[in-house]
Amino acid sequence: MSRAFETECVHGGVGPEPATGAVVTPVYLTSTYVQPEVGQHAGFEYSRTQNPSRLALERHLAALEGAAYGHAFASGLAATDAVLRLLAPGDHVLLPDDAYGGTIRLALRVHAPAGLVVETVDLTDLDAVRSALRPTTRLVWVETPTNPLLRIVDIEGVAAAAGAGVLVAVDNTFATPALQQPLSLGADLAVHSTTKYLGGHSDVVGGFVATRNEALASRLAFLQNAVGAVPGPMDCFLVQRGAKTLAVRMDRHCANAAAVVGLLEDHPAVERVLWPGLPGSPGHAVAARQMRGFGGMVSFTLRGGEQAALEVCRRTEVFTLAESLGAVESLIEHPGRMTHASVAGTTNEVPANLVRLSVGIEAAADLLADLTQALRRLS
Ligand SMILES: *Cc1c(COP(=O)(O)O)cnc(C)c1O
Repeated sequence: MSRAFETECVHGGVGPEPATGAVVTPVYLTSTYVQPEVGQHAGFEYSRTQNPSRLALERHLAALEGAAYGHAFASGLAATDAVLRLLAPGDHVLLPDDAYGGTIRLALRVHAPAGLVVETVDLTDLDAVRSALRPTTRLVWVETPTNPLLRIVDIEGVAAAAGAGVLVAVDNTFATPALQQPLSLGADLAVHSTTKYLGGHSDVVGGFVATRNEALASRLAFLQNAVGAVPGPMDCFLVQRGAKTLAVRMDRHCANAAAVVGLLEDHPAVERVLWPGLPGSPGHAVAARQMRGFGGMVSFTLRGGEQAALEVCRRTEVFTLAESLGAVESLIEHPGRMTHASVAGTTNEVPANLVRLSVGIEAAADLLADLTQALRRLS
């Protein structure tokens, strides 16, 4: 029986723990497991290879992505690294020109020197994707919505353009499976920084890869064990606990973001609001088709330039000035000087008057009051 997403969030792919009936999977703080006879075990030999807390998390998150297989990693970048290691020297990979900075750094400064041929392209332009494909292209890496400009990539369109023989991986960190399920849209792999919305409480760093393809899954399991970038059992527990409330949190993130956008759209100090839910925004039609909600990330530019943007970041009290995103608390940041400082001077440079919000689950009225006081007399 197929169950609603909200129900999967709570129950996932895991039932009570069989040995004791514990409703919640215990944190299995053990590195090794007794073998009654040489070679006899219950599927657990050593915790880099397999751990029950990790297995419970993997089954749970795979269920949320509608995947048959899932592999948890020590961070979002460790998960991304495992996907890039599916390729071989000489293989060509397309990355979005505005991919998460760490993804670009990993591809260009770790995998390109080892032989991967890395090229960036504007993935919102399917013609550009088609003309960038080469006979050696093995992977198209998608991110949607993008960070921090919240541009939308048509996942079905990219999968169709890529065709058979080219893997499509979607970094689903911003949307989460609550809003968008890449595997159902034709992607081969859905990748997460569970540090963000899946964990949801700013208390753990983690990564995850989901797939329906058995061959890819067994290669990922091999890499997880061979490379060893695995999460500890406590980290797995924290991510799994966060995932249980994902559906309700995302509902509130989306509703609060819509309220914040309403305020910003009408504010004289604000030049432009970037949010895929806005009917006039370039990605709106695709977002309305492939997402169940428009998400909790909102960016905007200020008429008063960089000084006004820095001033808003200084003034907010409920919105905390910090990097990262996707947790219960509202965060504000200045991408040009913070998360995207490393791309200054490149084609990926972000506007100096840009502010990014990760809208949390507080009362909307308090968020609006905070932004109102932070924006006063800035126009
Ligand atoms: C944070 C983030 C990552 C990297 O994840 P870590 O857990 O920090 O390693 C990758 N992609 C996106 C979209 C992110 O926001």
